[in-house]
Amino acid sequence: MKTVNDFNFKGKRVLIRVDFNVPLNAEFKVTDATRIQAAKNTIIKVLEGGGSVILMSHLGRPKGKDQSLSLSHITEKVQDILGVQVKFVQDCIGQEVQQASADLKAGEILLLENLRFYKEETAGDVEFAKQLASIADFYINDAFGTAHRAHASTAIIAQFFKETKCFGSLLAKEIESIDKVLTSGQKPITAVLGGAKVSSKITIIENILDKVDHLIIGGGMSFTFIKAQGGQIGNSICEDDKQELALEILKKAAEKGVKIHLPVDVIAADDFSNDANTQQVAINAIPEGWEGVDAGEASRLIFDKVIKDSQTILWNGPLGVFEMESFAKGTIALGNSIAEATKNGAFSLVGGGDSVAAVKEFGFENSVSYVSTGGGAMLESLEGKVLPGIDAILN
Ligand code: AMP
Repeated sequence: MKTVNDFNFKGKRVLIRVDFNVPLNAEFKVTDATRIQAAKNTIIKVLEGGGSVILMSHLGRPKGKDQSLSLSHITEKVQDILGVQVKFVQDCIGQEVQQASADLKAGEILLLENLRFYKEETAGDVEFAKQLASIADFYINDAFGTAHRAHASTAIIAQFFKETKCFGSLLAKEIESIDKVLTSGQKPITAVLGGAKVSSKITIIENILDKVDHLIIGGGMSFTFIKAQGGQIGNSICEDDKQELALEILKKAAEKGVKIHLPVDVIAADDFSNDANTQQVAINAIPEGWEGVDAGEASRLIFDKVIKDSQTILWNGPLGVFEMESFAKGTIALGNSIAEATKNGAFSLVGGGDSVAAVKEFGFENSVSYVSTGGGAMLESLEGKVLPGIDAILN
């Protein structure tokens, strides 16, 4: 895997695909700059190596040109974070861009306008990719968040840089982290899958059954498994049409020697609200009119033991309705278990959507080994898919 550490950027004009798809408030100010921060290492590496940098990204989902989604809104923030002046050009292809790029000197940064102002970007248009490529000597992809899309700037463009392309530091770190879990992970390996639905995680489960020793299934998706096994789940969320699939998963896991851990008890609520009445009951004996909303105490202890006996841990999806304070305890307990295991030498990767939100909200960000920056891209990686943005650099 070629990264920014394998090349000399002296005198090179380097086009970097970053993921600056950041949230803006009503005054068009950046409210969370995590993604800009995440791209810093790669950009600085090129500048320090004597190159100049051209940054390209999408922002939101514009239909044609849309000033409210102009990357000009974030120029100042990028500049603050990098500590280097950033020039902005009001297009991403064309004469003006050619000129701005030609004028760039070593150590300078140019930010292009939102790629998605052109529908050719998401369409993966080859001609558009060629125009983007024409302004640079070297291409770096550092946008993990869009690596699962075969867009012009994330994948198609790579063909115009034969030996002059590589992964940025962030993308490389994402690839390494996934690899540490799915390919080269130290045993025992444990995956924790939570969240609302079995259906959205089924391909992940099928892929990781060949890789892990333990699979903890928690959160809303566990009720489909419990009901399929004859348990009473009251009003808990359940995908009835996935019950058979749940039983198949359990059978397959047993055949492969993967130990599945389902919750044994649950916090049940009489309403889907933070101040509902609650009681702790056995997971398979939830009274009518009540629904499971968080992992019970016995379940937390069982999960804790499994996690602490693991050398490699993957966490995707919360163990309860963590957005409501009253039902966040199971998810927080899991975060604590993973943090402690990490402190004792385990490798832990948190990835995909809501578990990342939970980790940030409860302050576990610095006590796990790696928090992925890409939701969809991480999920597709865990499903075992080769991401187009990664493939395009490798081949
Ligand atoms: P996902 O996007 O599939 O990872 O699902 C995340 C969502 O699952 C979060 O919004 C949680 O509130 C929700 N969730 C987790 N456990 C439960 C549960 N027991 N009942 C209802 N929703 C849940």
